[in-house]
Amino acid sequence: MNEIKSIFPNSQANDQKIAGIYEDIDNYLVNLIKNDALSPKPLLICGGGTSSRCASKDHWTLDLRKNFQEIQFDKTKNEVLIEAGVNMHTLTKTISEFNRSFPIGISGFTGIGYILTGGISPLSRKYGLAIDHVEEISGFWGNGEKFTLHKPDSCSNKEDHLKWKALCGAAPFLAIITKIRLKTHKQNAIYAWETSISPMQLATTIEMAEEWPDSSSMYWFWGNKIKSYGLIELETKKDYDDFSYIIDKIPKSNDFCSYKISNINQLKEVTIPIKNNKLFKKQHSEVLGLLGPDMNANASKIIKEIEKLINNRPSENSYISAQQLGGETKNKDNDSSSFVHRDSSWKPWITGAWNEGDIKGREENLNWMRETWEELEDYFPGVHLAQMHPHLTWHKKEIKAAFKTWLPELKRLKSNYDPKGILPPL
Ligand SMILES: Cc1cc2nc3c(=O)[nH]c(=O)nc-3n(C[C@H](O)[C@H](O)[C@H](O)COP(=O)(O)OP(=O)(O)OC[C@H]3O[C@@H](n4cnc5c(N)ncnc54)[C@H](O)[C@@H]3O)c2cc1C
Repeated sequence: MNEIKSIFPNSQANDQKIAGIYEDIDNYLVNLIKNDALSPKPLLICGGGTSSRCASKDHWTLDLRKNFQEIQFDKTKNEVLIEAGVNMHTLTKTISEFNRSFPIGISGFTGIGYILTGGISPLSRKYGLAIDHVEEISGFWGNGEKFTLHKPDSCSNKEDHLKWKALCGAAPFLAIITKIRLKTHKQNAIYAWETSISPMQLATTIEMAEEWPDSSSMYWFWGNKIKSYGLIELETKKDYDDFSYIIDKIPKSNDFCSYKISNINQLKEVTIPIKNNKLFKKQHSEVLGLLGPDMNANASKIIKEIEKLINNRPSENSYISAQQLGGETKNKDNDSSSFVHRDSSWKPWITGAWNEGDIKGREENLNWMRETWEELEDYFPGVHLAQMHPHLTWHKKEIKAAFKTWLPELKRLKSNYDPKGILPPL
């Protein structure tokens, strides 16, 4: 146990007066867990520390960033073993030395929580979710028992299949993950582009993107204006032709720019079109991720609704964004992981932000997020639990929407592997 000195990248987490920090899973901590002597519960886990729930008032945080930094690349299998404190930038930078890549998200700042909660990459339409790359998982169940699980095959028993499915997407509720082994891909160059667009141009781009090849995808941010981003991985001659075609057709404005990079970790940092647009600036925020199918001909109707919601946002630092899935993310069946919304094509997410200590601003923004969710849930009925909110009134609803019919089995597993609720509640 160490004194409280660690700085979490998420400013809301960072501003909490927490009980303290553990930086190792030693016998002392394991005994506290096994004897149910941790107080208060749950124990919070910090992988990359980018979400608001890696630290909370009066709670203990297990911060893995310092002592879980090992990375081993296996050249014969093209697999990489990472400990749980490695962030996505370090992962991709290390394996790029072997000409390999991994589908990280829009930012390399995120830690292993990105993978454990599903992991939607701009390259997911080609390669699948981050969670689809996991081959082996090690850690401690919430009951304190140590484990290593390999990806199940036809010889594995039913319980091993269920445990695997639970850990791939719902691990934060069941276990402390210490390391994972991942498949990697050959590194290919990428063309990326960005442009400001109007609401109607956004609807047009969305309809176009739904027809794009799986090597490409788009994401967008809507605050004071709309910034649209896209990329395509360049592996074949057709990818170059597709790039020219897409760039020719998409709506763009004077600030349009495109650039070529050799690895996804070189993507330019997103400039969110809000008042205070520096990543991890001194603002508190919550993020709620939804999931839904293609928008098709509904795109302009949905965009008009989002425009009304944006116009009603209580703070200039709150915004709505979305990233595209589909392609390979749809090719896995619902039994392969706890990411059960395999039919999804879009993940819109709602960010409500307020100044530290502004209780009214917090309330207004959380209400706006809830109302926005209600307005959009007919189109986007699923939830992506990349950020969990056990401290908010909508936690039960988000859990149900995230896991649907898989939830009862997940709860049964929790009652076996985290019976005392050492980890966040389901
Ligand atoms: C700038 C930015 C860009 C993002 N882009 C994307 C994107 O493109 N695609 C996408 O899918 N998501 C994206 N996200 C969301 C992000 O992936 C999730 O919020 C993720 O949970 C963050 O993980 P972390 O380890 O960085 O954060 P943390 O706050 O440390 O952890 C997040 C959660 O994961 C749990 N957790 C972390 N480590 C462990 C562990 N070892 N064992 C058990 N539980 C653990 C924690 O309990 C916590 O609730 C983005 C977030 C940010 C801030």
